[in-house]
This record gives sequence, structure tokens and C-alpha cells, in this order.
Amino acid sequence: MTKVDLYDTTLRDGMQGQGMSLSAAEKVRVVHALDALGVDLIEAGFPGANPKELELFELLADERLEQATICAFGMTRRRGVAADEDPGLRTLAACFAPVVTLVGKTWSLHLEKVTRVSRAENLAMIAESVAYLRAAGKRVIYDAEHFFDGWREDPGYAFECLRSAAEAGAENLSLCDTNGASLPEQIAEATAAVVADLGSETAIGIHTHNDLECGVANSLAAVRAGATLVQGTVNGYGERTGNANLISILPALELKLGYECVGADRIGRLTETAHLIDEICNLSPDPDQPYVGRNAFAHKGGMHAAGIQADPRTFEHMEPTLIGNNRDVLISELAGKGSVLARAERAGIGIDDEGAARAIEAIKEREHRGYSYEAADASFELLIRKETGEYEPLFTLESFRVVTEKRADGRVETEATIKVWVGGSRYIRTAEGLGPVHALDLALRGAIYEHHPQLAEIALTNFKVRILDEHQGTEAVTRVLLDTSDGHDSWGSIGVSENVIEASWEALVDSLEYAFQPGRADPRSGGTSARSEQGV
Ligand SMILES: [Zn+2]
Repeated sequence: MTKVDLYDTTLRDGMQGQGMSLSAAEKVRVVHALDALGVDLIEAGFPGANPKELELFELLADERLEQATICAFGMTRRRGVAADEDPGLRTLAACFAPVVTLVGKTWSLHLEKVTRVSRAENLAMIAESVAYLRAAGKRVIYDAEHFFDGWREDPGYAFECLRSAAEAGAENLSLCDTNGASLPEQIAEATAAVVADLGSETAIGIHTHNDLECGVANSLAAVRAGATLVQGTVNGYGERTGNANLISILPALELKLGYECVGADRIGRLTETAHLIDEICNLSPDPDQPYVGRNAFAHKGGMHAAGIQADPRTFEHMEPTLIGNNRDVLISELAGKGSVLARAERAGIGIDDEGAARAIEAIKEREHRGYSYEAADASFELLIRKETGEYEPLFTLESFRVVTEKRADGRVETEATIKVWVGGSRYIRTAEGLGPVHALDLALRGAIYEHHPQLAEIALTNFKVRILDEHQGTEAVTRVLLDTSDGHDSWGSIGVSENVIEASWEALVDSLEYAFQPGRADPRSGGTSARSEQGV
């Protein structure tokens, strides 16, 4: 089995994505999650790009990792400056990270149009920069920017650049498809040529971007052609359409192609890691993401569901538990008892045939009114619990009232008052919020917090409203989907009503009650493509 190293650049290249920003402390959490997954090399950025990066490197210098190695990232020396006088290289040499990834040019178009450096000077910049860092005791990865474009236009010069880095002591030449312009056959051909020429002296890596939706396929093609290191980001974060997605590359390499990457134990953390890092980045996990999405192994149709019960291989490309995902048979009018029993079993709920039949009737009746449990696994489980008696209400509602006031100066203020009974006591609480749901959430939390202080850990992460008008014979109804997280896991809940506040209330109560059910099933993260509105 050939070992393939995983190189994660979520913290640098991934942060180029729109709206991506993490504090130094959050980046440390990402590093630990990647380390636990078994990623070999974790790129943390340039140790001095700004105060936040400096803080990150200071924090990382004191962190103990299980097995991952931290890499610093920088550029070859500037033109006309000696390597040992280049401030960037001196910072890299002084940094604690044992590995430095140096990016440099390989494409003559960039030399002419962007850097205005002669071809000979560029080769000297590469060789002297690598040699300087080697002399400072660093392991060096040479990141050959625009390699594939350069190779197509002038393969001889692109090779000279690689050779300069290799001869100066780079341990790895990582070939970059910086513009994401290449297709798998092109990547395979160029990588094979490099491996044939330089592969006996130096390891070859691959770093692709996803502009042609080929980031994963290109990475796999390069490995098949002899690359032994793959750069990418978690969930494919990155500039434009993103980087190669390590979350898809890892199971393909290890489980489909038989390469050695992280091992059977660690790969079981794949789903959890992908979702955790989404949460840290404040993104809703994509339910349709390959391998780790909530829908990746979900079966809606009755025949599929029956086939899965008979033998999972009938409709699945792999066993989902190998990567920590779950087979979750989605409920709909098409599916039957099997899915209710499967969910009950996962949640440890004792259910007999009569209980299952009652739950199915309740689901069907609710689906008819506009409920849909695909994105609301918490509400689905609560419904089964209510039919089997394994349900503990958090509180008893006496009443609530929400007032929204629009002032002449344009300001809008919302206030909610709630009266509930918890543990034999009556609580009345009032709260102001950004909108009615926010105000209700705060008032309810205020009322029950005393009995349930763990509420502090639980946050609503996503609020989606959709108007359903397909229900003949009734007024249009509003469907509210909420995603809720306790910091590790997230779950979805649903409410449906002709009144948006009533629908929101229903979803809100489910989201909180679910959190406190004893022995609840491992929730899976939420998120759908539905329209989202803040301040509703
Ligand atoms: Zn990149």
C-alpha cells in the first residue's frame, strides 16, 4: 500500500473564500480537529502577515499535536535581494514550524506580465530561497504556482523551475493548478512526466482548485500518476469555486483506491470533522455533500428503503458508518414502517408494531398539512417519542404574547411575554428581541433557564421560512425550519402554521426539547437550501 500524505490548507487557502474569517483561537480548534482526523501536514499561513497570524503561530508553538506537522507558508525571495536579507524568508527561518511551503513561479507568462523577473533570475530566486531555508534547518515543500499552465505553454522551463527547487533541497514539489484550468487527463499526463523525471529524487505533490468541478478528480488523477501528497481544504473552501475537497479525497484514496492515508479508526471521524469545521466557520453543513452530507445515504423512495433493509449494497456505494455518517431513511408518504423503526432503534426508543403504526399515521397526517421531516430530524424523533411515551416535555405553556411596534422614526421594536409552568412553578418572563422569534426565544429561555442551565450551550444557527401554497383547500401555510447546535452536533426542527409566529414557536420548542431528551439519537447537522431571513 502506498502512503499518501494529506496536506491541509484550510487555514490559508481556505480562508480566501467569500466571507471566511476565523480568529486565532478558532484556527487552533481547526488544527486539533484535523490532527485528530489524521491529516499529516497543516498549513497555518505566513507567520507575520498580520497580528492575527502572529498570535496563531505563538499559540501553535505551545500546542501538542498527536501526529500532524505544522507548516508555515511564504514566497521565494524578492528580486534583487539576497535570500538571507529577505524579510519574509528570515521570518520563515525563525518560525517554530519545521516545514516551510514556498510558493514560486513556474509560468513564463507570469514572469513577463506580473512579476517582471527574467527567467534566469526566477530560477535563482527559487534555488537560493530553498537553500537558505534548508540551511536554517527547515524541511521545504516547493509549491509550483501555475505549474500546469506553465507546462502546457513551455514544459522545458516549468521543469527547470522544479529542478532548481529539487537540487536546492526541497523534499517535495507540489504541482499547482492555480487557475483550476486543467482536466483529469491533463493533470495525469503532466504529473506522470514530472514523476518520471524527478520522482526518484523528490516526492511529488498535487494542489488543485475546483474551477472546473474537477478538484477532487484531478487530485486522484495525480495520485494515480505517482503523486504522494495531496493539498486541499476541508469541504473544499477557497477562493472562487474553492479548492480540492479533502473530505472527498480522503475516502476516495483510502476506501475506494486502497492507498494508506489516515487508517480505519481515524477515517471514522470524517463526517464529524467536516461538520465541526463548518460550525467553527459558521457555515451550515451542506446536506447534499458527498460522503458526509445528511442526505448522502438517505433513501426516500419506498423501493429503495425496502432494498436497503434487504441488503444495503443494493442502493449504496459504501457503508456509511466507515466514515461516521449514518444511513437515514427519509420519511415521506412513500416510506413506511422501516424508517420509523430505524430511527427509534438509533435513539434507543422501545417501539412495538402498534406504536410504529401510530407514528406513521401521525407523520402522514402532518405531511398532508405541509410538514416535511427530511430537514427536521429532531422533530421527527420527538414525534416518535410522543407516540411511544418516551417523551419529556421541558415545560407547560400557559400563554405567550408578541408585540411589534414600529415608531415614527423608523425604529422597530419587538417584545415577547411568556407564561409557563416548569417543575410545579409558574414563570412569567418578558424579553426584547431583533424580531418576534428572537424575542420569544429569549423570553422562553429566561423562563426555563433556572431548571435547564445547559441551555446556555444551545444556539439557533439557522432560521428558514417558506410559504407553501400547494395545499389545496386551505390557506397558504408557512413552514419554518430551524437549525440548532450545541457546539458539536446540530439538528433540525420544523413548525407549520398559517401564522408565521406560531410556526416558529413550534419549531423553537422542538429544537430545545430535543436537546434535553434522554438518550436522543446522535443528531446530524442541519441546513437546506431554503430561503433564509433574519429578524423574522
Ligand atoms: Zn491554492
